[in-house]
Amino acid sequence: MVYVKQFRCFNCGRTHSPEAVRDMAIMRCMDCNSAIDVEYDYGSIKKTILKDDFMRSAPTHWKYWAFLPVNDLSKIISMGEGGTPLLEVARLTPAGTSARILIKNEGVNPTGSFKDRGSALEVTKAMESGKGTLVLASTGNMGASVAAYSAFAGLRCRVYVPEFASSQKVSQMKAHGAEIIRTNGDYSQAMQMAEDYVRSHPDTFLTGDYPWRSEGTKTVAYEIVDQMYFHVPDYIFIPIGNGTLMWGVYEGLRDLISIGIIDRMPQLVGVQAQGCNPVVHAWESKSHSITAIHNPQTIATAISCGDPIQGLGALAAIINTRGNGVEVTDEEILKARDELALCGIFTEPSGAVAYAGFLSMHKKMQHEMKDKTIVCLATGHGLKDMYGL
Ligand SMILES: *Cc1c(COP(=O)(O)O)cnc(C)c1O
Repeated sequence: MVYVKQFRCFNCGRTHSPEAVRDMAIMRCMDCNSAIDVEYDYGSIKKTILKDDFMRSAPTHWKYWAFLPVNDLSKIISMGEGGTPLLEVARLTPAGTSARILIKNEGVNPTGSFKDRGSALEVTKAMESGKGTLVLASTGNMGASVAAYSAFAGLRCRVYVPEFASSQKVSQMKAHGAEIIRTNGDYSQAMQMAEDYVRSHPDTFLTGDYPWRSEGTKTVAYEIVDQMYFHVPDYIFIPIGNGTLMWGVYEGLRDLISIGIIDRMPQLVGVQAQGCNPVVHAWESKSHSITAIHNPQTIATAISCGDPIQGLGALAAIINTRGNGVEVTDEEILKARDELALCGIFTEPSGAVAYAGFLSMHKKMQHEMKDKTIVCLATGHGLKDMYGL
């Protein structure tokens, strides 16, 4: 059962039918080439989901299948993604406040990052399409994740990797048999090469920060609310690289509001590294477009995306929830990483960016945040990139 009604362009608003999108090599707007958003038939979903059963059964990625665009549930590709713990760590509560800090530990996904949520859906869609090779550009985690899920499904995988990608992550891709193409430039150039390759090779399926990935990613938002017994936290802190995670969290919450399972949005706070801050910069300067940054500089390589594909989505998520955009220095990121590790939660630098963003915002807004419930997404496992340890 697929409850997708249509797709709408983030930029120009043009709508596209599901059939038109199915036949696209690259899922972008036919008029202006921008990212497109999926719209669902909530009326039908509401009839399918029995609220009491939904609220009683344990949170796992595929529990939310009615919100996922899968044709045949018996053919999903799953390696046990999602269902990650939401950990309350009292020691992280800043002194003198009664804020509750919850860490959603996405590092425990099958390949060590939240990317597995999107990959499970993308590889499932690739199987539906009948194509044999998945192609993508990745700074590391997405490549490792798609490589693993492709190998599991018996498909080939080709990854374009910018030069700064961590060697552990490239090893992870290689171990799963992916073909690696090292590029000399940054992530945006790697992405261009992946798109060019797919255009000229019909048996390939492009994965990356396109609609299926954010659809798969949004289950992290359902899980957070579910794990809080359908209470809504006051803030969710989210790192922004390409913006797919941030947009996915927003979409997930919007879905739950649309079918009446929750009645308000948390404030979504997007966090970027100071050396790669195009979305936060747009937010601070009240701009509705995003200016790309060339040669971004940060040790948080997983969020080093100077020209974020889903940047407008991330910006909309901040604006529509009256949220915030925060930037943090590499030093603050490493400090946050060490602090989480001393509480037993080991993340790579990018995995600690959300918590670093919380610490930074809390310094300035202590009063407003003093008894709030705060969720920080810890996005990737520490073993993936042990910078400075
Ligand atoms: C991909 C990634 C991010 C950023 O997610 P986007 O969807 O690109 O914004 C953050 N942290 C880690 C560990 C990642 O792998």
